Amino acid sequence: MSRFLSGALSGLTPYTPGEQPQDQNYVKLNTNESPYPPSPGVLAALNEREGAALRLYSDPTARELKAALARRYGVEPDNVYVGNGSDEALNFAFLAYATDGRGAAFADITYGFYPVFCDLYHIPTRIVPLRADFTLDPGDYHGLGRTIVIANPNAPTGLALSRDQVEGIVRTNPDSVVIIDEAYVDFGGESCVPLTRTYPNLLVVQTYSKSRSMAGARLGYAIGDAALIRDLETVKFSTNPYNVNRLTLRAGVAALAEQSYYDGNCEKIMETRAYTTRELEKLGFTVLPSRANFIFAKKDGVDGGALYRGLKERGVLVRHFDKERIRDYNRITIGTREQMDIFLEKVKELL
Ligand code: PMP
Repeated sequence: MSRFLSGALSGLTPYTPGEQPQDQNYVKLNTNESPYPPSPGVLAALNEREGAALRLYSDPTARELKAALARRYGVEPDNVYVGNGSDEALNFAFLAYATDGRGAAFADITYGFYPVFCDLYHIPTRIVPLRADFTLDPGDYHGLGRTIVIANPNAPTGLALSRDQVEGIVRTNPDSVVIIDEAYVDFGGESCVPLTRTYPNLLVVQTYSKSRSMAGARLGYAIGDAALIRDLETVKFSTNPYNVNRLTLRAGVAALAEQSYYDGNCEKIMETRAYTTRELEKLGFTVLPSRANFIFAKKDGVDGGALYRGLKERGVLVRHFDKERIRDYNRITIGTREQMDIFLEKVKELL
């Protein structure tokens, strides 16, 4: 750090994204991207005319995309915020709601960006440990009276709460915002978007990065009461009004017209997830029951870090978190059947 960095930032440990090797030589199962390309309409939308239009700023109101997302989810356009990845929507939500002095609460094992936002904004944090089996006890969150953030399905465990369980948390915290991060919901989770019509304190965040094959386009969105969306817009118009670029706005609309293509991909990924789980269990692994496009697995007597490194040497990238409680595990993104067969073959070699 330079000697000019403000004291307020000096203790900050930034988020560490998964490795993004720029050669294509790895079977890349480490950052939960889709193994399938975006739909044909998305590729067609990124044409020469759109390229030429890059001289113009993007629509800061994202009118067309908000209208299309509203139709898709059965809400009104003013119930939709669109952002530069769901990371940005989460960032703005932490800033908007958790800096009120009461702070934020989230699990000990969950998305690693939440504690970074808290550090960044000096938000007091209540860490709520998951049970020994990594399930979340909804009762731990009843009446907490502070901003609550839950990834559902959770990362890196893949375990999910039902909509009813989330509703109990939202209902018992009427004076706090409950943020449900549904980055992985399309792989078998139960979305809480329908609850946003009833509860003005519920914000649901989703992304195009996983089920819609557009991690590189950086597009996320939040759905909630119009007043919550206005708060996020206030932060956006105070930082970066053109937060989503023109090509990504186009691609986002085009993807919604081809829902069945993405539904088909999710089906394939869920089948491949079941296959990979079965094969790992045959090899003696414990695999948590996942509702996401990744699995979280360990084998007794096998060091998680050593397995990660061994796989990397053999050209397969997975994600290992050197963190208490989960050091024995690896998080493995579900790719194509062919990719998973290579992964399984390398695991067998290493065992
Ligand atoms: N939430 C969770 C739980 C995630 O795992 C990720 C992916 N790193 C994100 C949000 C952010 O995704 P993006 O910014 O690509 O939408």
